[in-house]
Amino acid sequence: PYRRQRQMCIRDSAFKAEAQFTSDASHELRTPVTVILAECDTLERTQPTAEDYQEGVGVIRQQAQQMSRLIGQLLHITRLEQGTQKTCMERGDLTALAEAVCEQQKMIAPEGVVLTCDGPDSVEAQMDVILMTRLLNNLISNAFRYGSGGGHVRVTVRRTGSCAVLSVSDDGAGIPLDQQEKIWQRFYQVDAARSGGEGTGLGLYMVRQIAQLHGGTAAVKSAPGQGSTFTVRIPAE
Ligand code: ADP
Repeated sequence: PYRRQRQMCIRDSAFKAEAQFTSDASHELRTPVTVILAECDTLERTQPTAEDYQEGVGVIRQQAQQMSRLIGQLLHITRLEQGTQKTCMERGDLTALAEAVCEQQKMIAPEGVVLTCDGPDSVEAQMDVILMTRLLNNLISNAFRYGSGGGHVRVTVRRTGSCAVLSVSDDGAGIPLDQQEKIWQRFYQVDAARSGGEGTGLGLYMVRQIAQLHGGTAAVKSAPGQGSTFTVRIPAE
């Protein structure tokens, strides 16, 4: 009876977590929809000047882009969690992958931000290249977004013991100690305004989910005012 009760509890909490996820996702999507509808109402009711019209369309586009980002990330998460996106684990070189991702990210780095990538010649691990690329892109774009204007973003790869270790550091605002566990939760944002309206609060949740799929971990060390270092460890070959 104890085991049956425990299984029921687990099923019950999985059901509750799923219901919470649906409720949170609906709430996040409702905000941009509400803004879009309000903007359409205003444009219809008033006689907008060409300038008002442009402004209104700009708001609608921005909110639709936010919805599109949210839906894209929600789909990625659901596919991973339901196992509909098959992971394709292959032996690969984490240093080479980090270098390739950094080359692309350099092209879209904010002005004045220097992105560097360091690592030994090769650090081999079993990985899904698409997922690892997504993980790196998420961490680097966060470092761009929350880093300091003219700062440095440093990507490093190393091998310690049996682990392939990847870290992304910035010298930005950092994260208050009491929020450092919460940032891994779905939809959690320390300060939504800081992301310039482009954040979804899903990036780090996905980072940790991808690290765990590789049998690894994702963690943060951050000192407010000095910057943050996100570290992902996966088993090395
Ligand atoms: P978001 O889409 O809001 O960036 P994430 O899940 O990627 O969502 O991050 C959650 C929150 O963690 C962000 O809203 C931000 O407040 C904080 N955060 C993430 N990366 C950094 C960073 N490099 N420096 C400071 N804060 C960060």
